[in-house]
Formats: sequence, structure tokens, C-alpha cells
Amino acid sequence: MGERVEEHLKAHGVTLHLGASVERLRGDDAGRVEAVVCEDGDLAVDAAMVGIGLRPNSDLVADAVDLGETGAIAVDDYGRTSADGVYAAGDCAEIDHVVTGEPTWNTLGLPANRAGRAIGQTVAGDPEPIGTVADTSVVKAFDLECGRAGVTDLDVARDAGFDPVSETITAGSRSGYYPGSAETTVTLVADRDTGRLLGGTIVGADRAAVRIDTVATALASELTVAEVERLDLGYAPPFSPVWDPILTAAKVLRGSL
Ligand SMILES: Cc1cc2nc3c(=O)[nH]c(=O)nc-3n(C[C@H](O)[C@H](O)[C@H](O)COP(=O)(O)OP(=O)(O)OC[C@H]3O[C@@H](n4cnc5c(N)ncnc54)[C@H](O)[C@@H]3O)c2cc1C
Repeated sequence: MGERVEEHLKAHGVTLHLGASVERLRGDDAGRVEAVVCEDGDLAVDAAMVGIGLRPNSDLVADAVDLGETGAIAVDDYGRTSADGVYAAGDCAEIDHVVTGEPTWNTLGLPANRAGRAIGQTVAGDPEPIGTVADTSVVKAFDLECGRAGVTDLDVARDAGFDPVSETITAGSRSGYYPGSAETTVTLVADRDTGRLLGGTIVGADRAAVRIDTVATALASELTVAEVERLDLGYAPPFSPVWDPILTAAKVLRGSL
């Protein structure tokens, strides 16, 4: 996925300095940024956006409730913290990962919103679990859409006790003869012992991102790769090839398994 995004960015005139270690930003006398100072030289810039990761903002309650290993607030299946009558949800709190079953830190809108609603229902007397996350996320770079869900890093899968097998395919997004078809690259990861789907990524310019929802649904249902291959996904030439790219990837991965 990264390689395709890299090519696409370059084709749109973006210069990438990958692996360059940033030391600081340098400003002019008026306090306006003029360069990014790197180990191996300065890059002149008009503006800088800093994206260096996130951490949970849980200091406010760190003395009052237990934090998890991620640094976010530890909660049970209903969003209850260690303090009686105190609930937590969203960017400040942990939530269980659907594949590993372990508490994870997810900073996305749907899980926060959903957990908030569930907690509202619970405190109103009708307990509702906050659910799990597959860390499903979608982004766009110029025309290229990317999606990911589940465990896609093989080392992470091994650490979680799986024996991961991965396959990558590239297929059309529509029937080949139909206008608008675009190359769609899908990677799926599964556990060798059980055949269970662990995660996937997708990248392409024609409605690729929404296709990751098939993977997210399969993960929530703990489907095997064979079961994914047998899903009855919609087909008509304007929308998909006969075999949706996700199904083609499942077919190939099943062969490897
Ligand atoms: C630029 C940006 C783009 C994003 N895009 C996406 C996206 O495309 N898809 C996606 O799924 N997610 C996206 N997210 C993430 C998503 O917005 C968050 O995961 C979500 O808003 C978390 O909800 P929350 O209620 O936990 O926290 P928030 O929405 O941050 O709400 C917390 C509230 O608490 C208030 N607050 C904080 N401290 C105190 C205090 N001491 N006293 C009183 N009030 C306080 C804050 O002002 C804020 O209103 C994006 C986030 C950012 C910043």
C-alpha cells in the first residue's frame, strides 16, 4: 500500500524525504518557519505541519482511575472504569481489539461515538456493551483511496499468538470492459492454523476505501478466509468484477494456506 501511495504522491509532484531525521524547525526573525532542519541538511519550506504521533490525554484522571498499558483509561466491556460510577469512552479510554482480544488505544470517531451512546444506555438502566474495534481506517491521497482493518503487521500478529500468512493481489475495480475500472490492490492476512482472517489493506482510485468494510465485517464475525471467499458480494459491471477484489484476494490467500 505504501509503495502505491508513494508513486501516486510523486506523480502529483510531491517530493518525499523518507527516512530523513528531523532535528528542529528554523524560523526567521519574524517567527515564521523557513526551514526544516534535518540531520543531512536543511529543507526550505513555506509552512510546516508536524505529525509525530499521539498519546492519551488521561492526566486529568490518572489519580482517580486505573490506566491501562496503553496509557489510556482502562475500562470493562461496558465502559466502566475502576472507580465506582465513573465511565470512560473515546480518545481517553481503551477498547478491546476484535482480533487480538486485548485492550487497545483507538483514536477514531465511530468507536468514540458508539461507546458514548452505549454508556448512555447503560447508565439509563439498559446495559449495552461498548463493542470492539478492528482499527478500521480510511484515507485519501489525491485520487488514491486507502483502507485498512484488523492486524496487518505480521510481527504484531505473531506477538498475538497467530501464525500469519499474507497475500497481495491487484485486480480491476469493475468489469474490465466497463469504463472507470482502476487497479485495486488488496492484501489479506490470515492465521495458518485456523484459517481465520486477521486483517487487510486496500488501495485504489475507484471506490477502494469502502471495500475495507467487507474486511471489517468479516473480522467482527471471525470468518475464515474460506468463508470470506464464499461471501455473496454484489456484482454488476459498473460496480465490480464478477469476483470483488476482496474475494479474489481471499481465493489466492486460501491457496497459500
Ligand atoms: C483533524 C482531525 C481529523 C480527524 N479525522 C477523523 C476521521 O476522518 N475519521 C475518524 O474516525 N476520526 C477522525 N478523527 C478522530 C476523531 O475526531 C476522534 O477520535 C473523536 O473526536 C474522539 O471523540 P472524543 O469524544 O473521545 O473526544 P473529543 O471529540 O476530542 O471530545 C473531547 C471534548 O472534551 C473537551 N475537554 C477536554 N478537556 C476538558 C476539560 N478538562 N474540561 C472540560 N472539557 C474538556 C474538549 O474540548 C472536547 O470538546 C480526527 C481527529 C482530528 C483531530
